[in-house]
Amino acid sequence: MQAFSALATAAYCPRQLYYRRKHEDHEVPEAAARRRTLAFRYEELLDPGRDLREEPVDVTPTQFRARLSAAKERLDAWPELVDPAGREMLLEGKDARGIAHKVLDGDLPGQPTVSIVSAGEPPDRGVWEPDSVRAVAAAKALAWEREAEAGHAFVEYPAHGVVRRISLGTRRCAAYRHALRVARSMDGPPPRLENDDRCAPCDYRAECGTRTRTLRSLLGR
Ligand code: SF4
Repeated sequence: MQAFSALATAAYCPRQLYYRRKHEDHEVPEAAARRRTLAFRYEELLDPGRDLREEPVDVTPTQFRARLSAAKERLDAWPELVDPAGREMLLEGKDARGIAHKVLDGDLPGQPTVSIVSAGEPPDRGVWEPDSVRAVAAAKALAWEREAEAGHAFVEYPAHGVVRRISLGTRRCAAYRHALRVARSMDGPPPRLENDDRCAPCDYRAECGTRTRTLRSLLGR
């Protein structure tokens, strides 16, 4: 049985998962935990009278509220995202287990779903691959537990006021299965990523020995 977090890490970099297992590093940094709590306080944070200066919000208050207001307008599931049926729920599926930050009963019968809350910055469109893999893992585990369909999920980037709905289509499910195979079959350090932006924020950069891109390589010289 693989952990959701291990699958997300495998999707980011298989070698990072190797180091994480070797050092048994599982703790969520306090700053990340604080950012995630924003996802449980949207209505309070949307109140224009609320001072956001002490909150771990990474955009201006105007941007933050405009984005959340747009999500509130756009998403039928908003009331459930604000007040989910389950919070920080441990789910156990056929292949993976872990915490779903929110469990939603869903607006259609037999279609409960999950929301994964990221402490990071969202991409311009869609969601990052590790977040997608984690969301698929959690949605499939919930569907397994409830004998229901896993059709879609949500990924939230609350420090940026961004909430995105994703469909669990062929490509996302294939990426999930690939991460599962990587996590299951690892028996030694996988190859390093070469000249990849993912290495710059990696905690294992020194141990890994990967060179990050120089200005010269970025300019293609
Ligand atoms: S430094 Fe790069 S290649 Fe090495 S573990 Fe981290 S992300 Fe992977």
